Amino acid sequence: MPHRSLEAIFANNRRWADALKAEQPDFFKTLAEQQAPDYLWIGCADSRVPANEIMGLLPGEVFVHRNVANVVVHTDFNCLSVIQYAVDVLKVRHIIVTGHYGCGGVSAALENRTMGLIDNWLRNIKDVYTHHQHLFDHLDSHEACDLLCELNVCEQVDHVCHTTIVQDAWKRGQPLTVHGLVYSLEDGVLHDLSVNVSAMEEIPTIYRMYNDQEIFDRLPSRRRRLPQDPEPS
Ligand SMILES: [Zn+2]
Repeated sequence: MPHRSLEAIFANNRRWADALKAEQPDFFKTLAEQQAPDYLWIGCADSRVPANEIMGLLPGEVFVHRNVANVVVHTDFNCLSVIQYAVDVLKVRHIIVTGHYGCGGVSAALENRTMGLIDNWLRNIKDVYTHHQHLFDHLDSHEACDLLCELNVCEQVDHVCHTTIVQDAWKRGQPLTVHGLVYSLEDGVLHDLSVNVSAMEEIPTIYRMYNDQEIFDRLPSRRRRLPQDPEPS
């Protein structure tokens, strides 16, 4: 790929902005006043996996967090802050964790070599491997990497669901679904891993921050029938 100078990037930017304005004269003015995305994308920092382009969405339509190998760690205040803002303030309806086949981070986690500080980050992915080690028997390195890319997404979906942020949203009846997808670099296609979590009862009991009665009592249909607000006879 040819090296692009910064001047070329500014020129590209002006062409892009002018083209959008020609199509929708108020586009940037409207966008500057508010953003109301339906989606939070948690994806890999890999330059080949840009959220907006892949989903065919314009600026303003997806809130984005990216890091190496799309990992959600419960002590990562950067990721947690993005999730909290997206859920509590922007009220996104979908959190999409997207991995990609051929992920360099996942591939490195399968190896026994050192690359510096990032080794500590990739340890999270080695944990995913350890949790499912029996599934890797008899796979070649390519198959093992693809499988770990998929399992890593599933595990990070679980991590998102285990946050207090997502559970607080479910508790107050806010519609919110967490999805797991994987993207293929080779053909540009997104695949659904059929991991879709939208309620507290779909996660293991040990990770639930609220018991079933507390959730039940807060459901809108239940609240309408509290004693101080008797049902019409
Ligand atoms: Zn990656």
